[in-house]
Amino acid sequence: MNQLPSLNIPASYNYVGVFLTLSCNLSCSYCINHLVGLKQGRRLLNASEWAMGLSRLKMATSIPLTLQGGEPTIHKDFYQIVQQIPDEFELDLLTNIQFDPKEFAEKISLKKFNREAPYSPIRVSYHPETMNREETLFKVIELREAGFNVGVFGVLHPKQQESILEAQKLFSEHGIDFRTKEFLGMEEGKLYGTYSYPDAVFSKTVRSCLCKTSELLIDPFGAVFRCHHDLYNNLNPVGHILDPDYQIKDEFSRCDFFGKCNPCDVKLKNNRHQEFGHTSVEIKFN
Ligand code: SF4
Ligand code: SF4
Repeated sequence: MNQLPSLNIPASYNYVGVFLTLSCNLSCSYCINHLVGLKQGRRLLNASEWAMGLSRLKMATSIPLTLQGGEPTIHKDFYQIVQQIPDEFELDLLTNIQFDPKEFAEKISLKKFNREAPYSPIRVSYHPETMNREETLFKVIELREAGFNVGVFGVLHPKQQESILEAQKLFSEHGIDFRTKEFLGMEEGKLYGTYSYPDAVFSKTVRSCLCKTSELLIDPFGAVFRCHHDLYNNLNPVGHILDPDYQIKDEFSRCDFFGKCNPCDVKLKNNRHQEFGHTSVEIKFN
């Protein structure tokens, strides 16, 4: 495998998102991926390309690589990708657990998703609209019995609060850590979510600003973006993970899309230590 120059992750960074694919095997009505103009016909990075690109990351502090999507496990090389990422990296997985837990446990070593953290490295999102509750519970239990540390998240969508809270009770009775997340978005004309920059989302107008990120977000084709808005819309990539000349510029840069920010980028949330009050980007206007 060819070596690429090291890519230093600044100490101020809090998250590395590895988007293996933007496709999904489910279709939830509130999915942000529905907003994406999928880049059809382009080849996703394969296992050796991901291994080469991710191997160059040099963390200033301990940050896991979060494998996500879409649904990351539907990448046809998913198991090889996980196997080939060097063991020095800590991994997290965000999944809808439509895979076979037995096959997962046979193919993935426990040490891959084994870090000490205030939340489970494998985090299953439970969507009552598209997923069977009992089947999800059995699969989570199967994965846990195989030795994996797995937790569940449910979004408190206004129309699904009751079923999420019922599921939380059921999973908790089986000793499973089930956490809820606030819904981010518009529903019946009302904006939901807690944002550091309230005018940044769902505005009728856009304005220019200066923005600085604390996240490295890599799309399924290897392009790096400064925020989810840019990644999902394939706008203004700041580099490519396989470009030997790419280095992170930890500085403010101009953006003309303030007002259309993705809620994920401007919401108030927990950092990787589960401390509340963090926002992924910093925005200023002069
Ligand atoms: S499981 Fe997640 S990625 Fe898939 S459609 Fe539902 S919300 Fe979207
Ligand atoms: S202002 Fe919003 S859209 Fe622009 S770079 Fe920052 S987070 Fe992304």
